[in-house]
Amino acid sequence: MIWRSPPSGTLKSGPALFLDRDGVVIVDKDYLSDPEGVELVPGAAAAMARAARAGYLLIGLSNQSGLGRGRFGQAELEAVMARVDRELSRQGVALDAMYYCPHAPEAGCRCRKPGPGLLEEAAASFRWEAARSWVVGDKASDVELGRRHGLGAVLVGTGYGAGEAACVSAGWPADPLVRQAADLAAAVELILGADAGAGGSAA
Ligand SMILES: [Mg+2]
Ligand SMILES: [Zn+2]
Repeated sequence: MIWRSPPSGTLKSGPALFLDRDGVVIVDKDYLSDPEGVELVPGAAAAMARAARAGYLLIGLSNQSGLGRGRFGQAELEAVMARVDRELSRQGVALDAMYYCPHAPEAGCRCRKPGPGLLEEAAASFRWEAARSWVVGDKASDVELGRRHGLGAVLVGTGYGAGEAACVSAGWPADPLVRQAADLAAAVELILGADAGAGGSAA
């Protein structure tokens, strides 16, 4: 499902950062349903702005199983997302689009990460250079999504990331495209550095 669409008729292209929401962009508060609880991870908005200036698409990908589990409704989800947008815009940055899976894990849908559905939806509006694009998340499922689709993956230490670090280290022991960083700001630093090292453009 898409929360906010990109302008229709355009097909934006470039390298992309696929950003998990909870635990990466905003502080993870387990099934957040109250917009008052939206709190940006320190440094996240500035890092997103930096990546955008370097030419990266910023595309949100989020599992929102709270909907499928009946923990909150569509109105609550939209209120929270609107607040996320507002908090980001106050910092001068915006997601190009935001896609989410509304299903419970037992539903067996295609879109719950690491399933491919959200990336397939994004492909209707964006063309990303896989070799320069990364998923940034705080769970092994985010890393798995990226590596299944030829994207780099950074596990951040915020949110659930600290608890997932050992699992990620064990699951992708020698993969140079699986990295770990303290938070989104450190992840963007690493990604832009890798891009510069590969001869791409970086800011
Ligand atoms: Mg998360
Ligand atoms: Zn789904």
